[in-house]
Amino acid sequence: MKAIMVVADGMADRPLPDLHWKTPLEAANTENMDWLAAHGVCGIIDPVSPGFPPGSDTANLALLGYDPMEVYRGRGALEALGAGLELKRWDVAFRCNFATVDENMVVVDRRAGRICTEHASKLAESLQGIRSQRYPDVQVIFKNTREHRAVLVLRGPGLSTAVTDVDPGATGLPVRRAKPVKPTLGAKTAAVVNELVEKFHEVLSHHPINEERAKTGLLPANVVILRGAGAPPELTPITSKYGIKAAAISAIPLVRGVARAAGMQLIDVPGATGSYDTDLEAKAEAALNALKENDLVLLHVKATDVASHDKKLDKKMEMIERIDAMLKRIIEGANTEETYIIVTCDHTTSILTGKHEGDPVPVVIYGPMVRTDDVKEFGERTCAKGGLCRIRGVELMPIVMNLMGKVKKFGA
Ligand code: ZN
Ligand code: ZN
Repeated sequence: MKAIMVVADGMADRPLPDLHWKTPLEAANTENMDWLAAHGVCGIIDPVSPGFPPGSDTANLALLGYDPMEVYRGRGALEALGAGLELKRWDVAFRCNFATVDENMVVVDRRAGRICTEHASKLAESLQGIRSQRYPDVQVIFKNTREHRAVLVLRGPGLSTAVTDVDPGATGLPVRRAKPVKPTLGAKTAAVVNELVEKFHEVLSHHPINEERAKTGLLPANVVILRGAGAPPELTPITSKYGIKAAAISAIPLVRGVARAAGMQLIDVPGATGSYDTDLEAKAEAALNALKENDLVLLHVKATDVASHDKKLDKKMEMIERIDAMLKRIIEGANTEETYIIVTCDHTTSILTGKHEGDPVPVVIYGPMVRTDDVKEFGERTCAKGGLCRIRGVELMPIVMNLMGKVKKFGA
């Protein structure tokens, strides 16, 4: 038995007045999701716990069977793993943005005018080899990923994730100084971070790429702002936990990092972008292909969450319908006599608030011998009447693995 799990990021939503109090998922044309619901077992999931708005990292950890309350050690390390870096047990990693500041270090644009990857790569090159003078025993690894995004890893003795963010989180605010969360805990890390932010700013401010950008009216990427200090989570790989082979398809480093931490093989799909222009057909083909070699394939689609953060209802509906079309290909392409198809979301993202919310998300498991229920449509409210009832995110994977015959008996 095999399983393919489709996670539509932030697809679940709240009823909207513009949709006559339907949710985008309820209002969209989703005949394939509905078909799965009608022939599978449905339910709703509290990704982390009821009423608790999760991040994509904690929620996807939960969906893969890890209790984030136990294992989560910050976002930065997952981003770094997702960016392909090798991490050690005591490394401290940060999610970074190339950003634009004025002469008073006030943030003008947190994404440096959504700088292109080519420019960001050249700027990142110029930052290689920079380290702390005060703490030369700390190794510094800096890598840009896509556009304005980058990761920073600090390696050395006495480091800690107990430091505050440098990134103020909004424009119009000054770049913050990293502070230790407690006087003793995080002091060295905060000092290294502050020194690096200054040195990076110095180099970037005089970089020819930024001078060229200024001439053409583009915002200079003259600072690197850091947030989400994290250490790699210590997870028993899903592969050894259940004795399976597992792979994941996602365009975003955070979810790729979660999958990698869980011991899943990452599959790169050309055309998968994590945005509206992503190639879902290519992702479906890659997932079906991966199913030949693997027992479990995670297929993550980001753009439903992007649309929700952007508060673009049309885009969200369009992405939901495109995911539905992708599911048609998966239903047709998978050998459904030996494959479970699971569709769910990692969390609710509200079109109205533009934020992750703590409302539960729908789930369907379709496949051999599932106890079908009376749910005929895939939606937040319909699935609440399904046979899985209301479960926590961390409970989904054991339920799937039990169906696949991979869970060992507890007791005699
Ligand atoms: Zn998410
Ligand atoms: Zn989100």
